[in-house]
Order: sequence, then structure tokens, then C-alpha cells
Amino acid sequence: MRSEDLFSRAQKLMPGGVSSPVRAIKPYPFYTSHAEGAHITTVDGATLVDCCMAYGPLLLGHAHPEIKKAIVAQLEKGWLYGTPTPYEPEYARLITGDHPGMDMIRFVSSGSEATMAAIRLARGFTGKSDIVKIEGGFHGAHDAVLVKAGSGATTMGVPDSAGVLAALVTHTRQLPYNDPEALETLLTKNTDIAALIIEPVLGNIGPVLPKDGYLKDIREITKAHDILLIFDEVITGYRLGIGGAQAKFGVRPDLTTLGKIIGGGLPIGAFCGRREIMQLVAPSGPVYQAGTFSGNPLSLTAGIATIRWLHDHPAIYAELEEKTRIIEESLTGNGKTDGSFVRIGSMFKYFFRVDAPQNYTEVKECDTAAFTRFWQKMLARGIFLTPSQFETNFLSVAHTGKDLEAICGGYAACR
Ligand SMILES: *Cc1c(COP(=O)(O)O)cnc(C)c1O
Repeated sequence: MRSEDLFSRAQKLMPGGVSSPVRAIKPYPFYTSHAEGAHITTVDGATLVDCCMAYGPLLLGHAHPEIKKAIVAQLEKGWLYGTPTPYEPEYARLITGDHPGMDMIRFVSSGSEATMAAIRLARGFTGKSDIVKIEGGFHGAHDAVLVKAGSGATTMGVPDSAGVLAALVTHTRQLPYNDPEALETLLTKNTDIAALIIEPVLGNIGPVLPKDGYLKDIREITKAHDILLIFDEVITGYRLGIGGAQAKFGVRPDLTTLGKIIGGGLPIGAFCGRREIMQLVAPSGPVYQAGTFSGNPLSLTAGIATIRWLHDHPAIYAELEEKTRIIEESLTGNGKTDGSFVRIGSMFKYFFRVDAPQNYTEVKECDTAAFTRFWQKMLARGIFLTPSQFETNFLSVAHTGKDLEAICGGYAACR
């Protein structure tokens, strides 16, 4: 069956025809038959250069042989036990070893679950009620973080989704990114705040990059006001390097949430942090958290294979950075100045806004109609970019020189 027919069947059975909203590409999404390396093949017979990479997890590309080997070996032994496995202390040691100051970790099944638990933990640890998040920051699809800003920058949030209680999200405050003064002002006026949760690089509207010193500033401000700093590194963890954004920018948060890459392409999440905080998690402490699939052996073995591979190939980070530099270079010089190219490591995006956006307000100024026309032309050329102006593109170690040429050629022809 072709994509168009599959989608019309799915729409009758599933809300919007999809399992997650971003996939509902108009007029209909392509359905994937299989994928390998940097390429995805559709049921309609097209093979595309994939720059979406499942929205971040596939740093090593599709169907990486070593991850596959680890998964297949585990499959032979069963795939869920409901008991501890030797993978857990092994992986816990690996990840905490890569993140100085993160002494203990809890494995969960998704990034959303990780941020939900980290927020609960921050409240449990501090005994305070409110959290601060950054406008345009995405931390998964649970109530406390499905909030958009009110009219003023430091106002209480209003729900971003039907079904989320307004009373609940009054405990979530929003601040603009790249604005340490706004944080200082908010924390000076309010004493009921448990934590700031932030994507160190805004990955779900961009990438939007931190200004020089911003992350260090918010570390100092949160420390001075005695609130916890939670880095949501579900995208940036192992994406920006071993140790993620906290290593790259030299900032040590109190808690870190991880997901995506650490599952090697299988479902996972994790939160980690200082021992005195993490010890409050059940069963060693009073902050409850539990899950049937937590720490499941398939996700863990796939994750361990991924992280071990990265440890063995540390040069890939510089190589990936060089690849996005090449894409950027191919964009300059053809005389067009309708947008800005932003990149960090293997994350990149062309914004249809002349100056690179610094925060959510500026991202919203992008010409989304121009983006959609561009995106469709790229797809017709066989390049699958993330289908929204507000989603980051990702390169993987599987993207070859030839793939890069195709991407660069696409940008030159389609903008
Ligand atoms: C994807 C993402 C999440 C949610 O992770 P899921 O596994 O989709 O639940 C949370 N935070 C950030 C920064 C993300 O990019």
C-alpha cells in the first residue's frame, strides 16, 4: 500500500493519523519501509537522505551494525525481566562517569518521564512549589511543562493544551532564553521556586544558541538564590560531545535529564544528579518514581553499545562539526540573504529570518510559508529535513561526503 492510502486508513483509526503530532506532514506523510545508515526508504520506493534522524536519537545512523549486534544478542536471552540486570550498574557508571557531578542515575523509558521525575525531585528536595522554564523550551508532553507564556515575560503560564489544569500551570513560570537579568529579577521577587529547567541549547525550536556566558550566568544566579538548575540534555546529551552541553560550556547543573541518543534508537530516558538529591528517589527516599519498562535490557544494551562506540571514536564530534560547517559554507556566496544558518556540532537549521534568532519571540518571526515551500522542494530532491521551521536537523556519523553534496546542492537550489 502507498503512503497516501496508508495515511487515509490511519486517519480513520488514529487521531490525525499519527502516533506523535510532528509526523502529520501535509498533505500526507511518507511511510517508511526501511532505513540504513543515513538513508530512509519509503513504501513508495523513494530513498531519501535523512536529516531528521528520528528527531535526534540516531547519532550513529540507522541500523548501525554494532548496535544491532548488541540488540540481537540480547534478544536471544529474552527482552524483559522485571528484575535488575548487569547492564544497569554498567551503564550507570558509564553515564555518570561522562558527566562530572552527576553521581547517581535513574533509568526511565522516555525523555518526558525523565523531566517529569526530575521536576518532582526538585520540588521534593527543596520543598518549594514552582518551577521556571524557558519560553520555547520543550521538555516532553506532561502537564507541568505544557505551558506557554502569558503576555508579560515573567508572568505565570497558561496551559498550552486542553486538559491541563490552569491551577496547575500557575506553578510553572516562563522566562525568555538568553536573558539572565529576567531570571535574577524573578528569583529576587519570588521565594517559592524549586528549580529552573532549561535546554542548554534550545533544540526544539532551532537550534537557538546560548549567548556567551549565558549558561554560566544562570548557574551563578540559581546557586545564589538556592534553587536547582536542571539541564534537559535529552537532545544535547552525547550530541554535542561526550558530556553534552554541560561539558561543552563548562557548566555543572544540579540535575540532568537524558534520553534519545542514550537509548541507541530504542525508547529510554534517564535523570541523574548529585548524590544528596538523587538519594531522595524511591526506594531510598520519599520521591516516588517507578516504571515497568525502566532500565529494560534492550534499550540499555543498545545504549551501552552506542556510548562505548562514541568513547572509541571521539574524533567524530569534530568531523560532524566540520560537516555542518561545509553546509553553512555552501550557503554563503549565492547572494541570497533571506535567512540565517545556525549550527552547533551536528545540529543545524536554516531560519527564514535574516538574523539568527536568540529566543522564542524571534524564532516566531520566521517566514514559515517560505520554509514550507523550501522543505517540499528539498523532499522532492530526495532530502528529508525536519518538517517544521522549528525543529532541528541532525547529521549522523553515517552521512557520507556524497550525502553532504546532495544536502549542499539542495540548499543551493531550493532556497
Ligand atoms: C524529545 C525531548 C524530550 C521528550 O523526550 P521523549 O522521549 O520524546 O518523551 C524532552 N526534552 C527534550 C529537550 C527533548 O528534545
